[in-house]
Amino acid sequence: MGMISGSVAKSPEVKPARTITLLGATGSVGTSTLDVLSRHPGRYRLHGVTAFASDAAMAGICIAHRPTVAVMIDEAAADRLSTTLRAAGCPTRVEQGEAALEALGRDASADTVVSAIVGAAALLPTLAAAESGKRLLLANKEALVMSGDLLMSAARASGALVMPVDSEHNAIFQCLPATSTGICTKGVEKIILTASGGPFRTTPLEALRVATVQQALAHPNWTMGPKISIDSATLMNKGLEVIEACRLFDLDVSDIEVVVHPESLIHSMVRYVDGSVIAQLGRPDMRTPIAQALAWPERIDAGVAPLDFTEVAGLHFEKPDPVRFPALRLAFEAQAAGGTSPAVLNAANEVAVEAFLAGDVAFLQLAELVERTLVAAKSAPARDLPSIIQADRDAREIARRELATLN
Ligand code: NDP
Ligand code: MG
Repeated sequence: MGMISGSVAKSPEVKPARTITLLGATGSVGTSTLDVLSRHPGRYRLHGVTAFASDAAMAGICIAHRPTVAVMIDEAAADRLSTTLRAAGCPTRVEQGEAALEALGRDASADTVVSAIVGAAALLPTLAAAESGKRLLLANKEALVMSGDLLMSAARASGALVMPVDSEHNAIFQCLPATSTGICTKGVEKIILTASGGPFRTTPLEALRVATVQQALAHPNWTMGPKISIDSATLMNKGLEVIEACRLFDLDVSDIEVVVHPESLIHSMVRYVDGSVIAQLGRPDMRTPIAQALAWPERIDAGVAPLDFTEVAGLHFEKPDPVRFPALRLAFEAQAAGGTSPAVLNAANEVAVEAFLAGDVAFLQLAELVERTLVAAKSAPARDLPSIIQADRDAREIARRELATLN
């Protein structure tokens, strides 16, 4: 399918290739991104890739995709990667450490940065990309949640184009009209974020008390990294996404509603004041939003099978349960409180999830730990980067102290 008018010829794909830096290349979103890129070799060229310590996975990526530079945070992993690449005759330059990661976010050799690092560690390189006027494909949500207005105003100042990759926000982007000055939210009555409900959607409270890490990691519809999988089980992921939507689309929390939709086929919706509702549908496969964000305003093949509606048994919707999933309320409250409260929420949650994955807290204590930290931490204006980093540090300290009192 192509243009509607009859005689317009299809334009050939002869534009210069876009150059891509992929932060978090070894992760779940990173792997999906590489899959999409490899389907369009003439259109995209990989400049930089990063990981924390997974040097074996990184070696495979470098040998297959031949990026110019690979950054590892872990020093020993960087050394191992250098040795492996030298032995394989792969010319990728290996760099190491957080300063190299941030510099790569800013590196002018790439025009597009995909931010797919998990957690607050994405803040500095993502901010660097936003400050340097690139197309920024944002999968990471923690940096946006913690940074107040910082990230989006840096993007506005530099002219960076922020493309949401998180499937819900990518859906909203697709449901809003684009004007020459950006996305328009005039006439929006509500943004409706859909949530799968996670692995414990129907699990009774009593069973949640003894929920295991393995059960929490087993998401019914999506295959994702461990941190976001736990966040999906508590619904903190949806809470972070509420704040993410406020930041991306310049909305108030009262503009946002969450509805549980177990099939994960509608990725989110926009309801307008005239009664229209626009929804974006697709299979639960991150390659779709990644491809949309890479190619916008064009469309490219993502390797995703077409959605066959005759195979869809039904679309169901229900209200999220505030008793079994208090994390959602905490996120709404933190965003309403403003300032550094979302940074506190995020930091406490990162500490809590790490502790849960290590077997140190029970499932229901995750939200409890976040709530206790929010109560104990002082909220301050999220004025600048140092005040945000300080709030993140203080909240982690408080959360660790609270953690010790829980057990
Ligand atoms: P993964 O855990 O699968 O991957 C995380 C990536 O970040 C890896 O490359 C990892 O390297 C790297 N990394 C981890 N810690 C650090 C650190 N301290 N410094 C630098 N790099 C680090 O995560 P996902 O792909 O699941 O998620 C990535 C982000 O995208 C998250 O913010 C998540 O919320 C968001 N997202 C994910 C979706 C999904 O489907 N997975 C959907 C929507 C949003 P290494 O392998 O060496 O540890
Ligand atoms: Mg999402």
